[in-house]
Parts: sequence; C-alpha cells; structure tokens
Amino acid sequence: MDDTIKELGNSPVIPVKMDLDSKFSFQCHKGLGCFTSCCGRIDIFLTPYDVLRMKNRLDISSGAFLAMYGQVMELKKARIPLFMLRMTEDKKCPFVTKEGCTIYPDRPVACRYYPLGFGILKSTEVGGGDFFFPIKEGYCEGHNEEKEWTVREWRNSQEINKYDFVNKVWLDIILSKKLLASQVVPDEKTKQLYLLASYDVDSFRSFVFESRFLDEYEVDQDTIDLIREDEVELLQFAHRWLRGVLFGEGGYKRKMKEKTEEG
Ligand code: SF4
Ligand code: SF4
Repeated sequence: MDDTIKELGNSPVIPVKMDLDSKFSFQCHKGLGCFTSCCGRIDIFLTPYDVLRMKNRLDISSGAFLAMYGQVMELKKARIPLFMLRMTEDKKCPFVTKEGCTIYPDRPVACRYYPLGFGILKSTEVGGGDFFFPIKEGYCEGHNEEKEWTVREWRNSQEINKYDFVNKVWLDIILSKKLLASQVVPDEKTKQLYLLASYDVDSFRSFVFESRFLDEYEVDQDTIDLIREDEVELLQFAHRWLRGVLFGEGGYKRKMKEKTEEG
C-alpha cells in the first residue's frame, strides 16, 4: 500500500481498495458498549476547513485554536508540516466526554470518514476519484450492525464533499509532485507562511487587510469584498495565493512597482 497512506495513521487498515460504490455495514450510536472508545490514542490530521469549523464552534480565533489544540508534525515524505489534533495527557481527544463528541457537528473530516480511510493518490486529483479502505478496530462494535452503506452514501451523510471542496487547492498543494519529488523545497520562512495561509485564517485576514498585502498583489475589488465578508472564501483565497508563492502558478501577480522619479 502507498507509503503516504501508511503515514496517515496507526489504525488497523484492511488492505482492500474501495471505490464510491463499494458497500460496507456499519452503524455508530450511543447504545454501543464501545461508545467513544475510538476517540483517543489516534492520529487526527487536521485540514484547514477542519480548523475553521472547530475554532468557530469553540468561538475562538484560529490562532488560539492552533495554540491550544494543534500539534505541528513533519512527515518523512512531505516537505511541509501538517497540523494534528493534540491529544490530552491521558491520550484522549480534548473534545470527548462520556456523552460523546462535544463538537460533533464540526468534528474533523478524519472523524467523519471513520470507519473508512481515504487513499491519497500521488496525483493532483482529490475527491470522488480517489480510493478508500476499511479501518477495523477490534473493539469497534459498529461493524456488527446491519445498516449498509455505499462509500458514496457514507460520504454524503458525513458532509465530506463540502470539506473536499473547500480544501481542494490546499490538498493539491500538499500532494503536489513538485513537493513530493523535492523539486520545490520550502525554506523555514516559506514554511511559516504556508502554516499561516493554510490553517490560520484569522491571522491571514490581518495579513491581508492590515499589512501592505493589497498594495503588493493584484487582487480585484470583487474578490477583496468577498474575502472581507466571507471567511471560507478568505481561506480558499489564502490557498490560491499560497500556491502562487510555492510554485509560481495559479496565484496572484505582484503589482509592478511605480516609478517615483521621472526620467
Ligand atoms: S461504534 Fe466504532 S466508531 Fe462508534 S463509538 Fe464505537 S468504536 Fe467508535
Ligand atoms: S473530534 Fe469528536 S469525533 Fe473526533 S475524536 Fe474527538 S471526540 Fe471523537
């Protein structure tokens, strides 16, 4: 199986490739003896849209969320760091209680996928064309339930398409062949910009509107109005800008410097 997948978690992966029409039986509910057993001792990688949803649920800034709940990880093959959800000292998710997940409507996409994993192909394609695989923890009683799903039905029930849509450019960046093949190796300053533009939408807003950003880059007025009002648009704008910074493609052009002297 792809090394990229193996690096994405410690869960017992069943080496079966599933597509959107593959079927599986599963149901998770409060009456099961295993309820909340899965919310600890796990690696949960966060996507940018996860952070945006979770920080809003907690009513804190993205910077505060990342400081309190984020943990930066460097994967062997990735040239850029990723944020994971930091477990508590007793290795539980900070959001689990006996009653269940306290942020359930805004839980991260990795929790939404469970009991499926998603294959990250070494291509720039994400979303429906990718592959999936079952994850079976021995203690998880949900696999014994009769309710049957296709992968497509499961993704729809978990709102995963919305996450894929918002994260698409960012996923294209982190899976870029240029990064994976070391054609582009970001320096420390670029990594910090990457972390800012990827995950920290509130600080990125200040970066755009309270610095010389809009004097430096060509951004049309409609886009400026949109990203001022809508933070999901701002997050996607940040990712498009980041793609330009990292790869020099599909980003925003720098303005030509105006001449200060005639002649
Ligand atoms: S059924 Fe599985 S996913 Fe649901 S609470 Fe139990 S261990 Fe977790
Ligand atoms: S975010 Fe919610 S669903 Fe995910 S591990 Fe934590 S408590 Fe469980």
